[in-house]
Amino acid sequence: WQRLTQGMRRTSSSLSESVTSLFTKRKLDAATLEDLEDALVQADLGVQTAMQITQAISSGRYNKEIAPEEVKAILASEVEKTLAPVALPLTLDRSKKPFVILMVGVNGAGKTTTIGKLAQKFRAQGLSVMLAAGDTFRAAAIEQLKVWGERVGAPVLAREQGSDAAGLAYDALQEAKANGSDVLLIDTAGRLQNKAGLMSELEKIVRVIKKFDAIAPHATLLVLDATVGQNAMSQVELFQKAAGVTGLVMTKLDGTARGGILVALAAKFGLPVHFIGVGEGVEDLEPFAARDFARAIAG
Ligand code: GDP
Repeated sequence: WQRLTQGMRRTSSSLSESVTSLFTKRKLDAATLEDLEDALVQADLGVQTAMQITQAISSGRYNKEIAPEEVKAILASEVEKTLAPVALPLTLDRSKKPFVILMVGVNGAGKTTTIGKLAQKFRAQGLSVMLAAGDTFRAAAIEQLKVWGERVGAPVLAREQGSDAAGLAYDALQEAKANGSDVLLIDTAGRLQNKAGLMSELEKIVRVIKKFDAIAPHATLLVLDATVGQNAMSQVELFQKAAGVTGLVMTKLDGTARGGILVALAAKFGLPVHFIGVGEGVEDLEPFAARDFARAIAG
């Protein structure tokens, strides 16, 4: 919680400051409400959510004075209402061996780092983990995954740059099965500059995995960088289409003023949010908690 409030300082302080300045000695009239709605949209919460929150705040209080603290409390409770249904843990079905997790997202979103952090969590639970370096386009991504594997004690299946990612995923499945691994985490490429290529490659990887096990991947996690703000919306649509996303991880919530985008995503897509990234270290991945996040946003 402390790490979250620390990390969310920029999102919460900008919103908190607007609310304080808007509601200090001012009535809750149409102009104030409009300014509030603007501030919420500015904080990336999305137009629909901003309207809903503004309505909740004005109901029964129109033309009355209202303290900033009261506004913040209602704001937190409305945000929590939106987030609560999507704050769901990632549950591993232990009967699946390996439990296959496909990691997708654009380059730089934090996929590889999140794989390392997740692998560490699973290792700490005593699970055996295998990693597949499926971002075969970038030599650096392959190297980075190897480093993470070494750090957390997880074998990494990697090939040279340019190898076929779907073939690698298939071989990783076979190897994980043969080794009796509990979890297999598969990294993928995220070249947004070649959308058609990205989509067809992901579709192929999913197809190949399904050939091995019809209900795999058991989870397909989309990693989103909070600092991209509204762009996250179109990324969800793209990856939903290409890979069938089952859950989200939002990274880089430390040091951005754009954490509110998670609220807009929850309202629009209703996809489970499993974890949030609040730093570059191995421990900086927290289970997503609606109430803490809502309180952090409201300041
Ligand atoms: P990928 O291209 O999606 O695999 O992204 P990477 O895992 O290589 O991450 C890109 C950069 O973002 C790296 O410098 C990471 O250390 C950094 N990063 C990842 N997650 C977080 C986070 O939660 N907070 C911060 N501050 N940086 C992060």
